[in-house]
Amino acid sequence: MPELPEVETTRRGLEPVMRGRTITAVEVAERRLRWALPAGFEAALAGRRVTGVGRRAKYLLIETDGGTLIVHLGMSGSLRVVAAGSARAPHDHVDLVLDSGRAVRFNDPRRFGSMHFVRGPAAVHKLLRALGPEPLGDEFDAEYLWRRTRRRKVAIKQLLMNAAIVVGVGNIYASEALFRARISPRRAAGRLSRAEVGRLVLAVKRVLAAAIKVGGTTLRDYVRTDGSPGYFRQKLYVYERAGLPCRVCGTPVRQMVQGQRSTYWCPSCQR
Ligand SMILES: [Zn+2]
Repeated sequence: MPELPEVETTRRGLEPVMRGRTITAVEVAERRLRWALPAGFEAALAGRRVTGVGRRAKYLLIETDGGTLIVHLGMSGSLRVVAAGSARAPHDHVDLVLDSGRAVRFNDPRRFGSMHFVRGPAAVHKLLRALGPEPLGDEFDAEYLWRRTRRRKVAIKQLLMNAAIVVGVGNIYASEALFRARISPRRAAGRLSRAEVGRLVLAVKRVLAAAIKVGGTTLRDYVRTDGSPGYFRQKLYVYERAGLPCRVCGTPVRQMVQGQRSTYWCPSCQR
């Protein structure tokens, strides 16, 4: 599943291709995404000039002179830059044709991805308005997480993955940040000390920044806009390493299920 670093990598790939370009046509092969594309979708976007490509949580925001296209990659979606009119592969659902002769092509085998074109401010759209702060932004700091964890009995890993607390910290990065902060994923959020909360905030920021730097983690479903996979997987300490020796202390990495998701941790390094 594309996580925040993959989405940010996609954003960085799209920005120079799309900014300042006009979308001359929108070609839809399959309307049934997570939500069906409405009848007026193509007409609403065609002729718009792209003013920038932003991101909020795992949503790409393709900003135009007439509104914002909000794109979510879902479980298996990707955006690639192709020559306009080139042959479509299976699951290539939408082409945004640009006046440069290129097209941005949305592929999504499982069709959990989505596209919404909104004319007003994107921040108040129902998909975006309830989201917590960005993990790499200034609002997500030790003081903020301290306040949000007090009196909370929920396990810290599950709290970190709650988008109302902080967005974009998925399963891989929650596990990895807790390892780097030396905190057990099972601890009640409200029992963390101030020093631990501070370490955790720094670890979240560092693990996400490091993953963005190499283009993300997911090798199976996700490709960058230039088609190459992410390489962060080689730097993972615990995620999907159950039974393998901890890279720091050699203790076998353990696995358990929390909130229907697999959690990985080192019982020696993390307390
Ligand atoms: Zn260890």
